[in-house]
Amino acid sequence: MTDTELRAVLADRVAGVRARITDACRRAGRDPAGVTLVAVTKSVTPRVAAVAAELGCRDLGEGRPQELWKKAEAVPGVNWHLVGHLQRNKIDRTVPLAALVHSVDSERVLDALDAFGRKRGVPVPVLLEVNCSGEGSKGGFAPDAVPAACDRAGTLAGVTVRGLMTMAAYADDPQATRPTFVTLRELRDSMRTRSGLPLADLSMGMSNDFEVAVEEGATLVRVGTTLFEGLEPASGAA
Ligand SMILES: *Cc1c(COP(=O)(O)O)cnc(C)c1O
Repeated sequence: MTDTELRAVLADRVAGVRARITDACRRAGRDPAGVTLVAVTKSVTPRVAAVAAELGCRDLGEGRPQELWKKAEAVPGVNWHLVGHLQRNKIDRTVPLAALVHSVDSERVLDALDAFGRKRGVPVPVLLEVNCSGEGSKGGFAPDAVPAACDRAGTLAGVTVRGLMTMAAYADDPQATRPTFVTLRELRDSMRTRSGLPLADLSMGMSNDFEVAVEEGATLVRVGTTLFEGLEPASGAA
């Protein structure tokens, strides 16, 4: 695909996703400015990610730290989000490149990020990943482990917990994901009251279910397939 063709296809898809976000906001009485589209580029090449950035996608996401290193080097000047698991031995190299780590899934990782943030003197902005669906294949804190994690986070000078993230179980009918997003929002609300942390962000919603997530309060939606399906595949893409 030439640059021109790629740009045309992507421009159309980005506009389509943005329109669907706006419509979902309208249904929920929300301001679309309160929803950030994170374009998850894990399945495509840096070239495709660069075109997305040129088309106004200022927030790009990757699932794996090594891919984020590569893409952030190739596509500077945007906010890179890590949406997948962060191994502790990759913190030093990943955090300086990432605007937000969505996927803090254990107190061990939280503590390691805190140590990094204190060392550099600037707290690391993170979300706590919550396994709302209870699927064994998904990472994250069990909902009943979140209070302790928030209490702990409140004592750490090296991390700023900005909110919560979840992945819904795949469902043919996106409406079936709604209870998962309601659970995350309610958990966030009760953690706000409990911890006094602002917890402004809810990262929830992917290609299959982002409109439902927006209706239920998502501030960050993570969309890959709908934007990038069929475009130049990344080598070894997950
Ligand atoms: C891949 C991925 C996405 C994007 O999923 P799509 O269904 O392709 O939109 C979002 N969040 C996480 C954590 C992912 O790994």
